[in-house]
Amino acid sequence: MSLSLATFQFDVTPPLGHSLCGGWIPSVKAVDDPLEAIGFVLLGAGKPIVVCAVDWTGICNGSHLAWRQSLAEAAGTTPDRVAVQCVHQHDAPFVCLDADRIIREQGDLPPNSDPVFFSLCLDRGRAAVKESLKRSRRITHVASAQAQVEEVTSNRRILGDDGKVLKNRSVAPSGEDVRHLPAGVIDPWLKAVAFYNGKTKVAACYYYATHPISYCCKAGRVSAEFVGLARQLKEQHDDPDCKHIYFTGCAGNQNTGKYNNSDVKENRQLLTQRVYEAMEAASAELKPEPIRGVEWQTLDILPPPRADLSAEAIQRQISDKAKSVVLRNRPAFTLSWLERIKRKMPITLSALHVNNISLLNLPGEPFVEYQLAGQALFPDRFVAMAGYGDGGPWYLPTAEAYTQGGYEVSVAFCDPRVDGILSNGIQQLLDRRPVA
Ligand SMILES: [Zn+2]
Repeated sequence: MSLSLATFQFDVTPPLGHSLCGGWIPSVKAVDDPLEAIGFVLLGAGKPIVVCAVDWTGICNGSHLAWRQSLAEAAGTTPDRVAVQCVHQHDAPFVCLDADRIIREQGDLPPNSDPVFFSLCLDRGRAAVKESLKRSRRITHVASAQAQVEEVTSNRRILGDDGKVLKNRSVAPSGEDVRHLPAGVIDPWLKAVAFYNGKTKVAACYYYATHPISYCCKAGRVSAEFVGLARQLKEQHDDPDCKHIYFTGCAGNQNTGKYNNSDVKENRQLLTQRVYEAMEAASAELKPEPIRGVEWQTLDILPPPRADLSAEAIQRQISDKAKSVVLRNRPAFTLSWLERIKRKMPITLSALHVNNISLLNLPGEPFVEYQLAGQALFPDRFVAMAGYGDGGPWYLPTAEAYTQGGYEVSVAFCDPRVDGILSNGIQQLLDRRPVA
């Protein structure tokens, strides 16, 4: 097997005035640090495979497909062999051009995003991928390792004695009264997977599950947040020819609330350091082994929407000028999801298997239980999961979480059957014979 890897990176920082997080928080006023799309093209295992992490809040429905089609075209492959996963920073674009069309019809709402900027990003992506192919490097070895991240993530759903969500553990100062409570169900491990040419590291991917928010959403200051800054720090301290890519895992119910107060701006630096230290610790454990097998696998799912969602009622809410921007722009995402389901446009789950390492690409905001369950079911495999692929369905709670209520469940677009569908999909992607 002769494999090679081409790494690429391009700027996706929105221009001044561009909407952030779907348009209901202040738009871009300044850039604290740029947003990047970083990825690789893997060549030599059938048609090219493309995996890309984007420093945006989300990319949904038709817009997500457009990204994948665009990178696929540049790499000479098909969109089903392309995974585009957002890192989910919030002072960042949250793009759904379907929602944008619905919102612009209103005339008085801030747009979801700018289609011109969006297509500019796709152009940059195509150019970056094509350019990268000219300097692809042979890869022969792979390695995986993990390290615990200390005091960064916590479960944001605080349950009461009745088993229902009592409070959302916020990163804001108002979360102070629950900060002393245990972290709850989390995955403390940061996972690292690296590809090598002999002993030379060519690309390193990191996976960790938390909402990447130290402070945000108040001043229109764009940032790749502490995870992006940790990635940069790693880049500065590692082999200069190695590309570092950070993926946010199943973080739908994970945030920094226990360890962070969004009024303390210095916390961004503190959280950066903690993630960076775990990147260093995991990297120190990487032991390259010859690549024996590579496989790309996909599975399409079409989870049913919540039964109580009515397109007519949602459209009325969007048109209700007495309502706040968030209560009008957000339902435009919901309506786009319902229309997409009506078109039967599926969500594609994908997995890159290299030896006994499985890197899964999942949609929306899956709860951390999905990655914990997948890892527990297949203890012989090294399983890392990236969430925030196709953002169409928003939160993906577990069936149990639906019975507990809480914010995420209240704005989830799928009905509770999504748990069985997604869990089964993850299991199908992981249930495989060991590579000889
Ligand atoms: Zn989120």
